[in-house]
Amino acid sequence: MIYDELTHFKNYVFVDWDISSRCNYNCYYCTPESHDGKINFPDITVAKKVVEKIEKEYSSCKEFAVYNLLGGEPTIWNDLPEFSKYIKSINNKNILQLLTNGNRTLRWWENSAPYIDKIIVSVHVAQTDIVKLVEKFNKLADKIYIDFQFAMDIAVFDQAVEDYYYAYNNLHENICLYSKPLRKVLNNTELMPYTELQIETIKKLPSKWSRSIEIFETPMVKKLNGTVVDPAVNIGKLVLSKENNWHGWACWIGIDTITINRYGNVKIGSGCNPDLVLGNINSLDFKFPLIPVKCKYTTCGCFADISTTKKLNYTGPMIL
Ligand code: SF4
Ligand code: SF4
Repeated sequence: MIYDELTHFKNYVFVDWDISSRCNYNCYYCTPESHDGKINFPDITVAKKVVEKIEKEYSSCKEFAVYNLLGGEPTIWNDLPEFSKYIKSINNKNILQLLTNGNRTLRWWENSAPYIDKIIVSVHVAQTDIVKLVEKFNKLADKIYIDFQFAMDIAVFDQAVEDYYYAYNNLHENICLYSKPLRKVLNNTELMPYTELQIETIKKLPSKWSRSIEIFETPMVKKLNGTVVDPAVNIGKLVLSKENNWHGWACWIGIDTITINRYGNVKIGSGCNPDLVLGNINSLDFKFPLIPVKCKYTTCGCFADISTTKKLNYTGPMIL
């Protein structure tokens, strides 16, 4: 199985920004420090300086940035409208995406829709009424790009499958739907201990791809014996098949993707290279390293990291 074939290089940098630990949910598979409320949202002046730095340093290799705000629940941030206006004023191609539990009211979403490009509604089955959730977001389907990302919670697996099919049959045609196999805890690469049957069940869940902006797309294609067998690699299935291993490959982490954690530390990857901290948003006295990294891991954990470009036979300079 070979993924070392690229259809294109990404023309944007994906900024995976964990902006706080304030959340109105309490999922058991979430690390406590991701939702304990101790870390507040960034100061808007600091956030604007980060946007300016990214625009300046990535302009030589990228056309725009995707700001993916998460952690705990980004819709609680009062400065969200100002932040959104600012990223567009710096570069009108910039995109604001939120990873949300979708809990805010329909009225809140209707008022907020003009300044949000895309949302990924993370469906946490144990804390969500799927009928009400589908009803609410169907009313917004013409206003925002929406993905439903189903967390396949092993503790309520049958309910998750039932809710998934409800969403599949009732979601507006503009809304995308796909499943997400969960890790034991969010900062660990090990999957929940799914049975073989559960893994096969997840693999068979039908996805819906509509008019979404493809943020988690990967430029890799899958080849078998020289023939392209999968032109659009499905990241969820790739994780379940344990094919998310690019040890020794050149990886465009830090070029395609950068991460800002809730303490304001800027890193090149979400799950990998935890010690490689470039600096902090409060000082910004560092430069982004715009060369690929040689991967030293045997498992590549999160969707943002996996969708980052990787090449096996790369002979240019790399961070080792
Ligand atoms: S909604 Fe997200 S941040 Fe909040 S507790 Fe659940 S997994 Fe954690
Ligand atoms: S683990 Fe990190 S370096 Fe390795 S392929 Fe994934 S994102 Fe790239």
